[in-house]
Amino acid sequence: MDTIPSAWNEGMFVADFHVHSHFSRATSRDMHPSALNEAAKQKGIFLVGTGDFTHPGYLKELKEELEPDGNGFYVCKGDPEGTRFILTAEVANIFTQAGRNRRIHTCLFAPDFETVEEIQRRLDSIGNITSDGRPIFGFPVKELVRLVMDCSADCLVLPAHIWTPWFSLFGAKSGFDTLEKCFEEQSCHIYALETGLSSDPQMNWRLSCLDKYTLVSNSDAHSPSRLGREANIFSCQPTYKDVISAIKKSKPGFEGTIEFFPEEGKYHYDGHRACGICLKPAETLERQGLCPACGKPVTVGVLHRVEELSDRPEGFVPPGARPCVHLIPLEEILAAIFGVKTITKRVHKEYLRLIEIAGPELDILLWKDEDELSSVVPGEVLAAIKAMREGNVSIRPGFDGEYGRIVPDTIERIDGKGKGPGKPCAKCHQIKLF
Ligand SMILES: [Zn+2]
Ligand SMILES: [Zn+2]
Ligand SMILES: [Zn+2]
Repeated sequence: MDTIPSAWNEGMFVADFHVHSHFSRATSRDMHPSALNEAAKQKGIFLVGTGDFTHPGYLKELKEELEPDGNGFYVCKGDPEGTRFILTAEVANIFTQAGRNRRIHTCLFAPDFETVEEIQRRLDSIGNITSDGRPIFGFPVKELVRLVMDCSADCLVLPAHIWTPWFSLFGAKSGFDTLEKCFEEQSCHIYALETGLSSDPQMNWRLSCLDKYTLVSNSDAHSPSRLGREANIFSCQPTYKDVISAIKKSKPGFEGTIEFFPEEGKYHYDGHRACGICLKPAETLERQGLCPACGKPVTVGVLHRVEELSDRPEGFVPPGARPCVHLIPLEEILAAIFGVKTITKRVHKEYLRLIEIAGPELDILLWKDEDELSSVVPGEVLAAIKAMREGNVSIRPGFDGEYGRIVPDTIERIDGKGKGPGKPCAKCHQIKLF
């Protein structure tokens, strides 16, 4: 397998496609083009999804604030060299297929406003597109694929966060066991899968049936600070056509992904959030899937589901697999160093100071070499970044909607043993939390 290039090469760029606007539920008021434009610059993201293009109110905003860049993307009026926008949206389909209730989320990509209008027209005639930036429809998701690809062959449909228990293609609660059972005759239009925060490419490589799909990663950001927590690295020409074809063919042009440590995702392990019970997949099986506290079935997480459907051992690398890197957001690193919550003034102030002197966040976390960083970044931050880059982190996995926690070993050992080098905690598979 290739590795992510160690230096920020000329001609490479980062893209984050799956975000939400302020028209979606539980999102920040700042999720609109001008704020996304600035936030993406701070992060070091060249291309960002608009999100929510199915919403007429948001489309109106997009048309007022954006203009074409001539390459199939859009830019903020008055900032032609700023962040590029690509028209994207997320849709939920809730339906019955093969005798079971299904809930599937997909991301849609469209080449231009005209196509978006056509998609809106057709969706408006069969459902409600104004109630939520991420609309919900009652028809099978394969019909959504048909509808979108009918509007333009340049569109792309991407199954979203494919392993989350509740709303995804392979989700334990309301998903399918194979892509073909879900999309049936429309399967040929699916080229890529979004791995989601709780899984990484390594986990997906354990399913040989996924080898032909490009594994992409996005932030699913509901506020600007979450942008780029997962993202994609491209080396193709920065045009709509080239990006879509790089995704479809995986390479050349698609270099790999930037990942969360999957344990940080909200549904990595199994368990019950309300009972404070977190279980490894093997333990869930030992307990016949029941919670030791309340006796009810636990929420089966992503790792369990991957193991259930996998046909390869852990550690298998398929030929042609694209590389990935695992990062911890800079604000989380600072919060761990200060011993405070991520959303505090002190963290944000230091974050802005570091961005100001050392460049975009992804440059600091990923691309800049240690010598370069050492002259501008405090020693403790540098040591934490170094530990993160080497994978020396302590891990408390997320489960049943609770985010996990990942901390560089130079700062703290989550298992309570204080500072010092160590490997991921092997004991945290069943802990009473909080
Ligand atoms: Zn979703
Ligand atoms: Zn989403
Ligand atoms: Zn329970």
